[in-house]
Amino acid sequence: MKDIITMGIDVGSTASKCVVLKNGTEIIGKALIPVGAGTSGPERVVKEIEETTGLKLEDMDYILATGYGRNTFDRAHQQMSELSCHAKGAHFLFPDVHTVIDIGGQDVKVMQIENGAMVNFQMNDKCAAGTGRFLDVMAKVLEVNVGDLALLGSHSTKEVGISSTCTVFAESEVISQLAQNTDKCDIINGIHKSVAGRVSGLTHRIGVRDQVVMTGGVAQNYGIVNALEKQLGHKIYTSPLTQYVGALGAALFAYKKATK
Ligand code: ADP
Repeated sequence: MKDIITMGIDVGSTASKCVVLKNGTEIIGKALIPVGAGTSGPERVVKEIEETTGLKLEDMDYILATGYGRNTFDRAHQQMSELSCHAKGAHFLFPDVHTVIDIGGQDVKVMQIENGAMVNFQMNDKCAAGTGRFLDVMAKVLEVNVGDLALLGSHSTKEVGISSTCTVFAESEVISQLAQNTDKCDIINGIHKSVAGRVSGLTHRIGVRDQVVMTGGVAQNYGIVNALEKQLGHKIYTSPLTQYVGALGAALFAYKKATK
């Protein structure tokens, strides 16, 4: 029987991600370009997929686009909300999931999952606090890479509270701490706790049920994951594929469409 090849593309606010699936079960390609909606990201991520898998877009049986910029990708057969796709992808990786916390570049979403489908959600897309954007801004002020925040924060030895929830005020707080020669590691640890506090508040509005899974790019920062675990009092599961979970969910929905 002919293999069914499907592709999910997640055109996010900050990054473009692609996952290619064979027969709805096997990941045969993935790619990420760290620029998202309104940039060359979608075009470049597709080019990378074509180069690494040897497959052309025309070879895909079904393409489904998700993410903030999903409507700008006109080569998809269908578009779908990232809420459904994150729920689907998280359930594929963690079949016992009941709570998904997705922290992306510009928003935070908490989803309640029953039997793999989203039944309720809470979202903060009004303000950068608690999102990847908050961490990107702070990393820039601290002159470090976002990818290094977790390790640096783990070397903290002193409590430094970042009390402002507003990104602009919190940035001023960080600048003032730096001016007082406060250790960067302590400031970073304070930033992680501040983000975890915001996300924990949103999560409690919907209720927390095990297993709790974190998706999105920010879940690569184990400083945030650890701080959030402490604040929620629940173990949080993450995957090395965390930033691809939306694209994976899209590829899974695409498989369903291709075999209907
Ligand atoms: P979106 O779908 O909105 O584009 P993503 O889920 O792709 O968002 O996440 C993007 C965010 O992930 C960035 O804002 C950044 O803060 C964070 N991020 C990206 N790479 C890393 C990394 N290696 N470690 C920690 N955080 C990261």
